[in-house]
Parts: sequence; C-alpha cells; structure tokens
Amino acid sequence: MAQPTTLLDLPPELSAERIRAWVAGEKLPAYRAEQMHRRLWMDPVASWQDATELPKALRERLERDFPLPRLSVDVIQQSQDGTRKYLWTLGDGEKIESVLIPSAGRRTLCISSQAGCALGCTFCATGTMGLRRNLTAWEIAAQVREIVLLDVNDKPTNVVFMGMGEPLVNWPAVDATLSILNDPKGFGIGARHITVSTVGIVPGMKALAARPEQFRLAISMHSPKGADRIGIMPIEKRYPLKEVLDVAATFHKRVTFEYVLIAGVNDRDDDAAVLASHARRMGAHVNLLPLHPGGAPGLVPTAPARIREFCQFLVDQGVEAVVRRSRGLDIDAACGQLRVQMEKKRRADHQEPVDATPS
Ligand code: SAH
Ligand code: SF4
Repeated sequence: MAQPTTLLDLPPELSAERIRAWVAGEKLPAYRAEQMHRRLWMDPVASWQDATELPKALRERLERDFPLPRLSVDVIQQSQDGTRKYLWTLGDGEKIESVLIPSAGRRTLCISSQAGCALGCTFCATGTMGLRRNLTAWEIAAQVREIVLLDVNDKPTNVVFMGMGEPLVNWPAVDATLSILNDPKGFGIGARHITVSTVGIVPGMKALAARPEQFRLAISMHSPKGADRIGIMPIEKRYPLKEVLDVAATFHKRVTFEYVLIAGVNDRDDDAAVLASHARRMGAHVNLLPLHPGGAPGLVPTAPARIREFCQFLVDQGVEAVVRRSRGLDIDAACGQLRVQMEKKRRADHQEPVDATPS
C-alpha cells in the first residue's frame, strides 16, 4: 500500500502513535499529543490554525508537517422530509455524494466509497457512470468530518456504506475508515450502527468477517435466483449469489438483504418465495426499496400496492421484512443521482449556445 500522505488516512491508533513519536521528537510535553489527536476526529478543526489551545508556532509547524485535507462542498440540497444531500468535490475535481437521513432521534449518513462504480448494476445511477477511482480512507471519513465541521449537531449516529461505489472492492481504505468511524478516539460510532452494503464481493466479505467488531452487513440481492440476477447485476458472473450467501452464513453478525423492486423483473410471486427461503435460512432481515429513477431507462418501479403485497408475503412466510420509505425523492436522493443530475445539467448548459447557433 502507498505511504499515507495524511494522518487522516490512518486508523486512530496509528495516527496517535505517529503524533506521539513526532511530539517526542520535537521535545514537546507529552500531553500535546492528546490535544493534537482529538482535533483529527473527536473535536475536529477545519485547519490547525483553529486549534487555539496549541501555541501559534506549533500550529504553524503542524500545518506544514501534518496537513488536514478537506472536501469542498459543492451543493447541499434539503428535501421536504428533512433528508439532506451533499455533493462534494475532491482535490482532483471528482465529485461524490453523501445523504443525511434524520429519523426519530437518529441521523443516518449514507456515504460513498468510490467515485463512480465499475459493477454496472442496470438499475443504479452510479453504475451508469463507470468507475472513476477509489476513494482514500480520509476522503471516505471526511464525509462525516465535513458534516461535523459544518454543524456538530448534525453528527451522524449511524453510517451506511450505501452511497456511490462498492465498498468491498476498495477494502484497504474501507478497512481504515471503519476504524476511524468506530474507534472512541475517532468518531466513536458503535459498530452495530455501521453497515457495509455489498453486492457480494467474496474476498472483501471474508476480510470484513475477520474483523472482531460487530459491523453490520447488507447484501444487495435484488433478485433471488442467479439466472435472473445476472440480467440486472453483472457481478453475479464473478461471485454467484449462492457462494455469496454461503459466505454470509459464516457471519456472526446480523445480515440484511437489500431488494429494489422493479416491475416484471424481480417482483413475481416466485421471486418472493425464493427470497423468503433465503431469508429464513439465514435469519436475514429484508429491506424492500422502491426503485428510484436514474438507472437504465426501461426499468419501471413496482406499483405501491404490489410492493405491500410482496412484503406481506414475506412476513407471512415468517420473514422480518419492511418497505423502506423513499426518502428525499424530491432531491434525487438515491445514491449517484445528484452527480448524474448535475452532469446532465452541465451538459445541457454547455449545449445551449450550440443549439442556439443558426445552421
Ligand atoms: N455497491 C454497494 C453499495 C452502494 S449501492 C451495493 O450495491 O450494495 C447501495 C444501495 O443503493 C443498494 O442497496 C442499491 O440497491 C441501492 N440503489 C441503487 N440504485 C437504486 C435505485 N435506482 N433505486 C433504489 N435504490 C437503489
Ligand atoms: Fe455499484 Fe452498488 Fe450501484 Fe451496483 S448498486 S452499480 S455495486 S453502486
């Protein structure tokens, strides 16, 4: 792995070690290390200049030796239901999204792990743009850090890796980020309040399972039979659902199945029956999601009455299933949608003068 360029790329244990070594080398009193470290995540500063408990000369040295990189906030959209969507610009101009969803005392932040995604699920807006690049650990964790910097009262209580990208193909960065989110010297968010969502990248699932914390796993199933699943999720060819479920069964952690309902594609009685048998066998919880627009144009959401019926069928089979409320529909809050929207708008803006040119 490349040498990290910032302390913010490291799990808190390692950044604390680095800082302690530096403080000792600079012959500063040991308590400075603690003061500095809490400014990374626990009580973050926009820049070292704001850490006014530290002497000015020290702050200047820190700016030089340990720069604190930032995301710049491009757009914040507030939905009528309180859902808030952030579009961030990275240092190289790439754009990623996070969505903050408040509900009953909880604030769940949906974060991105990649700019774009290579896996090309047909219903997904992010899938349509292909992979731009992996995010680094600090870029993933910064989605939380920047929100805390904007308003500490918005600090998320829960984090889900359900934004842009497939977290388990970017495991080294996601691995470090999980520590940053969970460590009491990081954001201190309980492992059971952190969910990694995956289409089923088997090596990544094994790496996640090997961690001792109780992180939650969500499997994006979307179709319970491999032969059908391959039509909407090309990854099925590489890691068949059967193998994915076998690995998921080894998790001593609660598993959730994510299932986006698409009319005529995965909402038949037979789909419900096979889905129910998978869920019962694994003791999995099922989240049914209405399809948001943004993926392939031909796909149509299942009608609400059929969604309720599908859900009831699962419940009658003894499965814990819920229909997730569509949040932030008015701001295109399904992940990847805002960036795709903005790019369409930019293209449209650029095309205007061309269209206006007389032929
Ligand atoms: N790559 C990972 C995590 C990011 S996608 C994964 O696929 O699990 C996170 C969630 O967004 C997935 O559960 C996916 O089903 C959901 N999603 C993607 N496109 C959607 C759409 N058009 N409508 C509703 N949910 C969608
Ligand atoms: Fe990638 Fe997940 Fe979208 Fe599939 S659903 S294209 S894996 S982000």
